[in-house]
Amino acid sequence: MSKKNQTYSRREFFKLTGAAGIGSAIASFGNVAGASALGDSSDAGPQLVPTRPFGKTGEHVSMLSFGGSQNLMSKQLLLRQAFKMGVTYWDTAESYSGGKSEQAMGKYFQKFPTDRKKIFLVSKARNSTPAELSQSLHQSLERLKTDYLDLYFLHMVGDVKKQLTPEVKAWAEKAKSEGKIRFFGFSTHKNMEIGLMEGAKLGWIDGIMTTYNYRLMNTDDMKRAIEACTKAGIGLTAMKTQAKFFARFYADVGSLSGAEEALSDRFLKRGFTPEQTKLKAVWENPRIASICSEMPNMTILRANVAAALDKNELSYQDRHLLEGYAHESAFGYCAGCAKLCESALNHTVPVSDIMRYLMYHDEYDSPQRAVRLFHDLHPMMRKNLALINYSSAEQSCPQKLPIARLMNRAVNVLSMNVTRIV
Ligand code: SF4
Repeated sequence: MSKKNQTYSRREFFKLTGAAGIGSAIASFGNVAGASALGDSSDAGPQLVPTRPFGKTGEHVSMLSFGGSQNLMSKQLLLRQAFKMGVTYWDTAESYSGGKSEQAMGKYFQKFPTDRKKIFLVSKARNSTPAELSQSLHQSLERLKTDYLDLYFLHMVGDVKKQLTPEVKAWAEKAKSEGKIRFFGFSTHKNMEIGLMEGAKLGWIDGIMTTYNYRLMNTDDMKRAIEACTKAGIGLTAMKTQAKFFARFYADVGSLSGAEEALSDRFLKRGFTPEQTKLKAVWENPRIASICSEMPNMTILRANVAAALDKNELSYQDRHLLEGYAHESAFGYCAGCAKLCESALNHTVPVSDIMRYLMYHDEYDSPQRAVRLFHDLHPMMRKNLALINYSSAEQSCPQKLPIARLMNRAVNVLSMNVTRIV
């Protein structure tokens, strides 16, 4: 993938967008960028989403990755438009939409076979034995209508030492030698700092996808972990960059609305939406190769592409405001530090996982995904969840989350029969 001239200069950007900046520009990108992505010989200029090196793999990936956790079967046009804009890192998993995400990308590759080799294609499996991984990979390749994946992740890793075993390493090496995967790594939503540090020590991990955002990126532990991965040559993809908090749960808390309004007012005057600002905050760390973002419609795709193309840096005041907002709304954000609350409960309840499922339901508009994941828990776990005494976990939570009330809410909203919602 060529790196040459893939960004707008500030002058070019504002010429295209007008004085109001990114927010008013999002409708302008599709056709122009598309012509260049498709190899149009016209000198349309540098309009594609920029690329960044992905660790020591030698690959350059688009700094915006298309997150495929949604059902994409009816969104072929969205995939096409993403490709045209230079969003050529596509992320999916065997579990997304019950396999429909992979099927939809496979449908796309059948229609546009020459696009496949231009896409950095990533999928994931939760299995951990070599036999299970082989079966999962085989099925993913079938659904995706491709012979190989560019990157294969062990999905939702919470304990690197236990899950990234020598057997998994041997399996990954064999899959590489057979040409079925090019690179291997893992994704992590909890205990990220520990997982990143341990992943860096393994010496055979090519890429990691991690929760990483303006709330988490400034701690010393996270900085050290990112640095260790960079030194180890691991390509890093950030996810959950919007770092949403439990707004629906806290709908009755008036103090947050003021903070949110101040954030919106400030950034809209600068020409960014708060969402674009949060993306830019992550991209300002050059060690992050790409941001994986779920973009369910053309408006969000274009807004994110516009943010990727914009070269204005956040000011000291912008960062200060974002940090202030993170601080003010911390009590509604689960930071994934599962070792704290879960060890307080003797590891009997996957608190941070359930927090994430509730977040998918309440704030990510993904109730089906949330319910499916919740139903993967052991039935006894689901049954007893609302009866557990969470006081020790609440005392250990640095965010001071009302864990008992949130677990109760999870039981109430996620316990519906999964067959009703799938
Ligand atoms: S509930 Fe609290 S301690 Fe547990 S993962 Fe979330 S923020 Fe960390």
